[in-house]
Amino acid sequence: MAKGNIGVTSDNIFPVIKKFLYSDHEIFLRELISNAVDATQKLKTLASVGEVKGDLGDLRVRVLIDKKKKTLTVQDHGIGMTAEEVDRFINQIAFSGAEEFLDKYKDKTEAIIGHFGLGFYSAFMVSDKVEIFSQSYQPDAKAVHWSCAGDPEYTMEETIKSERGTDIVLHINSEFEQYLEDATIEGLLKKYCKFLPVEIAFGKKKEWKDGKEIELDEDNIINDTNPAWTRKPADLTEEDYKKFYHELYPMQMDEPLFHIHLNVDYPFNLTGILYFPKIKTNLDVHRNKIQLYCNQVFVTDEVENIVPEYLTLLHGVIDSPDIPLNVSRSYLQSDNNVKKISGHITKKVADKLAEMYKNDKEDFEKKWDDIKLFIQFGMLSDEKFYERAIGFALLKNIEGKYSTLEEYKTQIKDAQTDKDGNLVVLYTQDPDANYTYIERAKAKGYDVLLMDGELDVHAMSQFEQKAGDGKLRFVRVDSDIIENLIKKEEAAKDSYSDEQKEGLRKAFEAILPEDKKLNYYVSFEAAAADALPVFLTQNEFMRRMKEMSAHQQGMSFYGQMPDQYNIVLNTSHPQIQALIGKMTSEEVEEVPETKEGEEPKAAVKKTVYTLSGEDEKLHQLVDIALLASGLLKGEALAKFVNRSVELL
Ligand code: ADP
Repeated sequence: MAKGNIGVTSDNIFPVIKKFLYSDHEIFLRELISNAVDATQKLKTLASVGEVKGDLGDLRVRVLIDKKKKTLTVQDHGIGMTAEEVDRFINQIAFSGAEEFLDKYKDKTEAIIGHFGLGFYSAFMVSDKVEIFSQSYQPDAKAVHWSCAGDPEYTMEETIKSERGTDIVLHINSEFEQYLEDATIEGLLKKYCKFLPVEIAFGKKKEWKDGKEIELDEDNIINDTNPAWTRKPADLTEEDYKKFYHELYPMQMDEPLFHIHLNVDYPFNLTGILYFPKIKTNLDVHRNKIQLYCNQVFVTDEVENIVPEYLTLLHGVIDSPDIPLNVSRSYLQSDNNVKKISGHITKKVADKLAEMYKNDKEDFEKKWDDIKLFIQFGMLSDEKFYERAIGFALLKNIEGKYSTLEEYKTQIKDAQTDKDGNLVVLYTQDPDANYTYIERAKAKGYDVLLMDGELDVHAMSQFEQKAGDGKLRFVRVDSDIIENLIKKEEAAKDSYSDEQKEGLRKAFEAILPEDKKLNYYVSFEAAAADALPVFLTQNEFMRRMKEMSAHQQGMSFYGQMPDQYNIVLNTSHPQIQALIGKMTSEEVEEVPETKEGEEPKAAVKKTVYTLSGEDEKLHQLVDIALLASGLLKGEALAKFVNRSVELL
């Protein structure tokens, strides 16, 4: 029997393994099965070039649990290892240079793991002792038995093994007995090995018969060895893609909208299928995540650092041997390969969408509402994506007609350019609430967009900044009277004096409700005579900032502002004119205020207008304005109804 020290000269590598990989100890199974699959693939390759002759026999990788002996075995029938190879691959290679490296990276443990790719040694995270029984495919090779109890000392001896291949036997540590449970192992196999290219068998198939679960004489195969993303797009039907989607996400009921098959071999290797799910609200996000594979081995579904954040809204798989595993997230972000991969995926996704839009606009429009959130998120977070997407990002008007921004601009240019050359886009977030405003806009021949999506206010701000040379404005249709929203000429003026208006403003202010969350400002406009006598407007800028602050950090200043409404009195309307006519005036002398040290000022004459006995009417007018804006609710609404009945 040979004895030796594993090729680490510093005292012991095992505490490092145990300590630093502790949080993720389940990956030992992934590592061992990957090795078993590799060994099997290598054998197949050798056979294909004629270096191994004859029937290869059963090539399934088996995972076996022996509860009595407290062992977990990963068994393959791959190329196996000779004693010399065990010495080279297991005893020496894994930790060559470890001492120096450990010294250098004492604090950067993840780099250590990334550097070494702990592989086989991760078995020690959960084992007291690990044994290797291996029989090489090479003619005349003797089987070898290696054993190590978690310290740098190992033993190696010749043994008898009837079958080619390797058994890795883990004597599971008492702290980790969950790894002797069928359910735990099956769960891990389903997580990491679902799409491995060699069949993985765990236990026997079970079947329900007469209310009892019985074991069949057939291996329970965990994986699909030929998943869709490894096949050629030409060989796959729509149905195959859908079937695979449900294989990936067994709990997902909805069908995906469409998919993108990724296939790159230069300058890096990448395959995968991305699916566009229906995303309606933020709640749907991140329920199913993109899964990252490395040569069909599941690595993670935390792909935030590998694809841009908005792409994490997609579903599907990405498989690349070029993405470094087992390394820290910050390291991933700075990795050049990862950056290229991310850029490539972005481009592919944009290309696919552009192609779909070009090939079938009608179909694209049908999908738009479901993919809008994703595309807007992408445009807002990635300049390059914005540039690509501006050609197919759609706007929808209240009649349900779609157009790109450029098409829309052309369409409204003649009617909706104001006297200063600004192109004004009118929109609503709630056609019902804005009904009266929309009607007035329509009467002028204007178009109104429906912008009720979660990211619409952000999107319109982006359009204003990027797509209009400073001359593009989005305004909600109720943010001012229509004549002011798209100013064609100087606003009409009325002939009332400031004193008269001041009197009427005071009369209205006196009856307005006091609500800390709502600020009203009474103002005057000579709007159309057939418009409402009193109406509400809400400043576009303040309102939009407030809405945007709900999503964004650092904008809480706007978020805390109360809602502001202008109560606009329409001086062209007979009702308002009648009220002004009913005001009484009196001459008063007023001494202007003087500051300390100033000469006292002479008294000035002033006309003061007052309105009395009209409170009920003022209430009624304000309530009508609130009602027209969808803001009259609860008790105020009930009062309005009663008052209206009495007035009749
Ligand atoms: P890695 O797999 O990253 O190379 P490991 O420590 O997991 O690192 O394995 C070291 C080497 O040992 C492998 O490259 C392979 O040559 C050999 N090896 C490990 N497991 C097996 C196996 N089941 N059959 C044959 N060779 C194996």
